[in-house]
Amino acid sequence: MTKFVYSFGRGKAEGSSVMRNLLGGKGCELAEMTNLGIPVPPGFTVTTQAWAHYNRADRQWPEGLWDQVQVGLERLETDAGLGLGDPKRPLLVSVRSGARVSMPGMMETVLNLGLNDETVEGLAVKTHNERFAWDCYRRFLAMFGNVVLGIRREAFEEHLTAVKTRLGVKTDPEVPAAELRKLAETYKDLVLERTGAPFPQDPREQLRLAIDAVFESWWAKKAIEYRRIHDIPAEWGTAVTVMAMVFGNLGETSGTGVGFTRDPRSGEPGFYAEFLANAQGEDVVAGIRTPEPIEGLRRRMPAAYDQLLEIAGRLERHYKDMQDIEFTVQEGTLFLLQTRSGKRSARAAVRVARDLVNEHVIDQHTALLRVRPQEVNEAIRPVFDDREKARAIADGRLLGRGLAAAPGAAVGQVVFDADRAVEWSKAGQHVILARPETSPEDVAGMYASEGIVTSRGGRTSHAAVVAVGMGKACVVGASDIVVDEERRAFMANGRTVREGDVISLDGGTGEVILDAVTTVEGTMSPEVEELLAWADRYRKDGLGVRANADTPVDAQRAREVGAEGIGLVRTEHMFFAPERIPIMREMIMAPTAAAQQAALDRLLVFQRDDFVGIFRAMEGLPVTVRLLDPPLHEFLASQKDYREMIEEKSRLEALGINPERQRSLEGILAAVERLREANPMLGHRGCRLGITSPRIYGMQVTAIMEAACAVAEQGMRVEPEIMIPLTGTVGEMRETYEQTRKVADGVIARTGVSLKYSVGTMIEVPRAALIADQIAQHAEFFSFGTNDLTQMTFGYSRDDVAKFLPAYLQKGLLPHDPFAVLDQEGVGELVKIGIERGRRTRPDLKIGICGEHGGEASSVEFCYRVGMSYVSCSWPLIPGARLAAAQARIRERQAGGAGFRG
Ligand code: PEP
Ligand code: MG
Repeated sequence: MTKFVYSFGRGKAEGSSVMRNLLGGKGCELAEMTNLGIPVPPGFTVTTQAWAHYNRADRQWPEGLWDQVQVGLERLETDAGLGLGDPKRPLLVSVRSGARVSMPGMMETVLNLGLNDETVEGLAVKTHNERFAWDCYRRFLAMFGNVVLGIRREAFEEHLTAVKTRLGVKTDPEVPAAELRKLAETYKDLVLERTGAPFPQDPREQLRLAIDAVFESWWAKKAIEYRRIHDIPAEWGTAVTVMAMVFGNLGETSGTGVGFTRDPRSGEPGFYAEFLANAQGEDVVAGIRTPEPIEGLRRRMPAAYDQLLEIAGRLERHYKDMQDIEFTVQEGTLFLLQTRSGKRSARAAVRVARDLVNEHVIDQHTALLRVRPQEVNEAIRPVFDDREKARAIADGRLLGRGLAAAPGAAVGQVVFDADRAVEWSKAGQHVILARPETSPEDVAGMYASEGIVTSRGGRTSHAAVVAVGMGKACVVGASDIVVDEERRAFMANGRTVREGDVISLDGGTGEVILDAVTTVEGTMSPEVEELLAWADRYRKDGLGVRANADTPVDAQRAREVGAEGIGLVRTEHMFFAPERIPIMREMIMAPTAAAQQAALDRLLVFQRDDFVGIFRAMEGLPVTVRLLDPPLHEFLASQKDYREMIEEKSRLEALGINPERQRSLEGILAAVERLREANPMLGHRGCRLGITSPRIYGMQVTAIMEAACAVAEQGMRVEPEIMIPLTGTVGEMRETYEQTRKVADGVIARTGVSLKYSVGTMIEVPRAALIADQIAQHAEFFSFGTNDLTQMTFGYSRDDVAKFLPAYLQKGLLPHDPFAVLDQEGVGELVKIGIERGRRTRPDLKIGICGEHGGEASSVEFCYRVGMSYVSCSWPLIPGARLAAAQARIRERQAGGAGFRG
């Protein structure tokens, strides 16, 4: 016979911590604590296996389960010295859910089970407290009525409110026993009326129904939603723990509380707890009363306090991690009701892991695996104070939610265009740029802002990519936020937010909140430094970490957070500065080759200066510079500018004035028309531009090499890697390679500086991955541009994916946003093919990744497994990438791994 019920009580339990999958987190830790001799009320746990049977067999209990429950109950009654349904010594139990991972508040619980018309009288006599007994009974009737019998909670509450109104009192404790007794009668009538049957008076029947209801609550809508967000498989199911009730509301020597063995926000050592005298746990959870600091317990019951502190320390050492505990003191006697590994802020996660190593509780491997890579990123950014944010949301200040595109907490006044953002920030204001979407022309405004929010766009949309690179908080695709540029306002959640109003953005969760929420500063703290130093030690000779950086300032920042080179300089971003864009336009619209060259010569000066700055900042480290990639029309005008130019031209024509301006407008408009493409992302861009307009690439290569030679001449080591974007045929690769070499060698010959450089390509077109062996004949390195590779493999437009992605995720048609988390089975397969074929031609081919996936933990692990040389990501993601790379290696070792890397 399968064992479905595991008992615990009086210092002995049948279960233990290792049985988490079978007994759920709550059940297994109650068993473990019992075995450790910690005071836990007696009880038993019904296994997840019983749930699985129930779920499979159309809500039927497996054979023998009821008998086993009765045996468990008998033992519980003996341990507690009480009897379920015994009017003299009534046992009351709680029936609680518990999955193998904690799903706080998502499933159901029934408290005070065992009460009926007889036992309530017995409880009153036994506790000498009539009010307490009737309060328990009316709570139980309402809870059971709601959770088990499916009657709306409000139906019960309305009656309680009516009583309070009639009595002219505000709080529940002011309602006297006689009224509670009457209320219990009303509740029973309500049950009869709604269900057609009287309230079940038999406590065993109550128990059977309550276990059913907790089983069933696995399928509650909120639980399903929670599982979807946290990737929890539906087949895990829940265990059910039945445990003797203990009461914190039996007077001033009773109480209840919650505690952490370290501060969950900062990670600082020290018991961090709160206590509420004469109260039950649900009062704390429901926020009905505000708990006091734990000093309250020390003052009232010093012995219980000392015991609690001793137990907290013991639990932490036992579990080797920070614990979150729930406790109740019943008439001076302490009971632990739960322990679990405590949820903590990112900063606390790093600090606790580091401290536990230094306290010799865990080893470095364990510490490195325990911190999530995104937590080290978050740990160095300012974040919102959790409580303040929760309060703001509870107060109804949440304006909307979008995709969490770039982590960080930003507070500022809303502006609706980039110029205003620059203007206001120059005047010392903090601003947040709100746009329907962003374009490269918004870059200066984005830079001037604390954060960016857009109503459209996915995670690799322009706004997202640029914001991550700048280290700005960013929320994209917030479709609840309707931006009205004309009126300089946005509508959200029934409110209108106007220019100048203050909002707060959480780029790590996607929340947009009205008014300011307090932030807590983030820096590269000694804890983060120490943890990452360990990470670097373990990933040595493994996966390198480089930065995507476009400016000397970003390069410098990247270096400070540990970048070992630059994996991608997107040179086009350098052309958007206000003094450069007119020259760029001149170049694009030049009527003759000579005019084009003249404009290019002027651009060369700017580019060379930028490269000098970047090479200096990255002295001694490799720098991959990508030649121009986007279609040229992006430099001409946005849709809005285009409309404005047409209007301006018609106005000038009608007035017959300013002929020079008219001609200039005509020129730009004609060029826009000429360059317009139906599918620009699949159009005239990348190496296709380099081949049809070789002068542009010629200028860029000259600028790179002149800068490199100039810096090398000053005695610094430079290692330029020139990268051709979007190659798909061997012909494209050969031609751009030869062209690049010719120009670069020309510069070396001219300057007389001996300098090593290499020429390679991005692999962004699926075809390039498939013919990587041929491409590698003319490419000295590869870098996977997985943004475009994902776009072209799925056939999803990077810029429009937000239109259908949420629906796909909701329906489970995609496990993740493939632009955020690398699709290993599809896109990843192409990456593997590309690596394998590329190295067939050049066994020592250096291979990296520079799409947004280079900073995402599971993708970094994949890159390690398939044998890449490095990952490259924006500087704010570098700490996480360093950790993820170390984790990949540690996990491989632990699995006894000889993977791809051997
Ligand atoms: C890519 O496609 O992955 C890439 C890094 O290039 P971009 O995002 O600039 O197109
Ligand atoms: Mg690309």
